[in-house]
Amino acid sequence: MSALRIPTGRLLVLAVFGWVVLTAMPSAGDEKPADSTGKTLLAEVDERVEKEAPDLEKLYKQLHTNPELSLQEVRTAARMADELTKLGFEVTTKFGATGVVGVLKNGKGPTVLVRTDMDALPVTERTGLAYASKVRTRNKDGIEVGVMHACGHDMHMTCWVGTARTLVALKDRWKGTLVFIGQPAEEIGTGARLMLEAGLYKKFPKPDYCIALHCDAQREHGTVGFTEGLAMANVDSVDITVKGKGGHGATPHLTVDPIVLAARIVIDLQTLVSRETSPLDPAVVTVGSIHGGTKHNIIPDEVKLQLTVRSTKDKVRKNLLAGIKRIAEGCAKTAGAPEPTVKVDESEFTPALYNDPALTKKTVALFKEILGADRVKERPTIMGGEDFSRYGRAGVPVFLFWLGTIDPQRVADAAKDGGKPLPSMHSDQYYPVPAPVVRTGVRTMSMAVLNLLGK
Ligand SMILES: [Zn+2]
Ligand SMILES: [Zn+2]
Repeated sequence: MSALRIPTGRLLVLAVFGWVVLTAMPSAGDEKPADSTGKTLLAEVDERVEKEAPDLEKLYKQLHTNPELSLQEVRTAARMADELTKLGFEVTTKFGATGVVGVLKNGKGPTVLVRTDMDALPVTERTGLAYASKVRTRNKDGIEVGVMHACGHDMHMTCWVGTARTLVALKDRWKGTLVFIGQPAEEIGTGARLMLEAGLYKKFPKPDYCIALHCDAQREHGTVGFTEGLAMANVDSVDITVKGKGGHGATPHLTVDPIVLAARIVIDLQTLVSRETSPLDPAVVTVGSIHGGTKHNIIPDEVKLQLTVRSTKDKVRKNLLAGIKRIAEGCAKTAGAPEPTVKVDESEFTPALYNDPALTKKTVALFKEILGADRVKERPTIMGGEDFSRYGRAGVPVFLFWLGTIDPQRVADAAKDGGKPLPSMHSDQYYPVPAPVVRTGVRTMSMAVLNLLGK
């Protein structure tokens, strides 16, 4: 279709916001049957998005200024619950710790679950934005930390609220059940598990599909990214306490030095990936922290190591975890040291994310029609983790897509030879550009959900 079919009033409104180009693009939404007023579904969604956008931007900035750490998302959850209640959802709070579940039934049809996460990170913000977070709090170990939405979960919540508003406003254009969940504690890999263990799929309508979006810190706004099938890795955290026998630094022969032993373990662990895992299977064993000792001339009793372990196949995961234990124990034995403790925190395990191929294809085809094929980009599998995967492991097709968030000029500058790399997710300098990102996020998520619901 062309811009000529748009009612004049609307064209004016859109021109004010600079949206004429996008609206004039041919799209599937435009080709779908128009309702009695002559508007297409996409046109109606776009109208809603424009109407809600200023308020959503305000909501985004409020959420950004007031972040809360994992399992402390009390005010954030209350705000999310409030938004859904106002829209007529039946809302349950404190579900799986601080989780929120909203259900809206609208006739016979598929059940679609839309998930946002709500937690922020222990990062002191350095973006310099007017609405930057100045929040400081204590983490679970009692240490004072800065708090920042450095993973964009504030944007996820904003798009989730915007999508709920859009779908409620367009209630006569779809049939089915919406399950909107505000998930706590994504960053520590426990929130999805807590909600599922609390009976998410039993106490509420079991979804036919689960869908979520995540900010992308490397792509320009106005674009989305996707990975069909295996998208993200298995993530495990391992804690090793290497034990020795402390003493004076000048008499090492009277001690069992856990620092030398820990160094040996760190080096030997490298062979797990390079010698024990097939080169065709991605795997990572990173020792991210090593702590031991207090002074130059004291050999300590113990050294603590913290590891992150990544894989994409469950068999590789099993071998890596068993290998870490074997190497730590074997090295200790060689050194004549006491047996080390090797702890795998199963509660923080994040399984690999597998985007259902049929659901991915169906949604990506729609995105290409709405945004234009050049704005929908395939991304390779990454070794990062996302506990959204758990909703899929519980037997429901899931799809998580990436939402570009960066100013296009910055992306272009970074791509130049010698260009300054863009801050990554979790960086104290990462920030999305609110106005366009909110619009693309609400637009794509609303259309994706409508594409799955009954007509
Ligand atoms: Zn994150
Ligand atoms: Zn995240």
